[in-house]
Amino acid sequence: MESIKNKAALVTGAGSGIGRATAELYAQYGAKVVVSDVHEVNGNETVALIKAKGGEAIFIKADVSDAAACEALVAGTVKQYGSIDIAFNNAGIGGEANLIADMSVEGWNKVIAVNLNSVFYCMKYELQEMLKQGKGAIVNMSSILGQVGFATAAGYVAAKHGVVGLTQNAAIEYAAKGIRVNAVGPAFINTPLLDHMDAATKQMLVSLHPAGRLGEAGEVAELVIWLSSDKASFVNGSYYAVDGGYLSK
Ligand code: NAP
Repeated sequence: MESIKNKAALVTGAGSGIGRATAELYAQYGAKVVVSDVHEVNGNETVALIKAKGGEAIFIKADVSDAAACEALVAGTVKQYGSIDIAFNNAGIGGEANLIADMSVEGWNKVIAVNLNSVFYCMKYELQEMLKQGKGAIVNMSSILGQVGFATAAGYVAAKHGVVGLTQNAAIEYAAKGIRVNAVGPAFINTPLLDHMDAATKQMLVSLHPAGRLGEAGEVAELVIWLSSDKASFVNGSYYAVDGGYLSK
């Protein structure tokens, strides 16, 4: 993936799961990677994994539910690498599992803050820099639950649907400025996000996937890399599922 080489790529939530796998793949293709996470130890571990394979990366801590932290994160990226060419706004949480009538207001606000407000905050500052550069590629993390509902996950579902709308709006606002903004929608992926689930719940989730298994973080990373690259030069405002057939049922 030659067009990724030497680009400055920011990944949020890169201390774990899909973010880590994608940060490693960006680095493998020669990008200079800003690994960001709220979790300092895990973020530094991702940097170490990248460096162990000869890649280039630094860690910048940021809680993406905080607008000022997102502004500082983008500024830190530009300070370190001189530009921000690619951004993968990935950080997210599962959030409170409850039916709507039982969901706490705090639980709702938290998942909207981390999974939706964060994407607006990050894009706001990423776009300001990309406009100066006259180019850039952003990939936002949605979910299959950005297309359909899932009982007990209303806040998560609303946030991930919101990410799709935000992505489309950004695309139409900035397409003529050389900036592409797309969203990815994984089905259930084997990451620490699912660690709290017992074996029976995971088996139930497996049964929802025509592929007969959950996805792997690296399978999502491959799609994100392609969308970030010049190979996707006419792809803008799109939502791409990576779901083992989940949404096709
Ligand atoms: P993960 O392994 O838990 O990784 C998410 C990372 O984001 C963690 O390091 C987490 O830190 C960090 N994070 C949490 N809140 C943050 C905040 N406020 N600011 C910055 N970083 C924060 O989960 P994952 O499965 O890779 O999920 C990554 C994204 O994919 C999320 O947006 C998720 O909704 C989405 N997704 C996941 C699946 C799935 O089945 N796994 C499916 C579809 C979409 P902590 O560990 O400290 O929380």
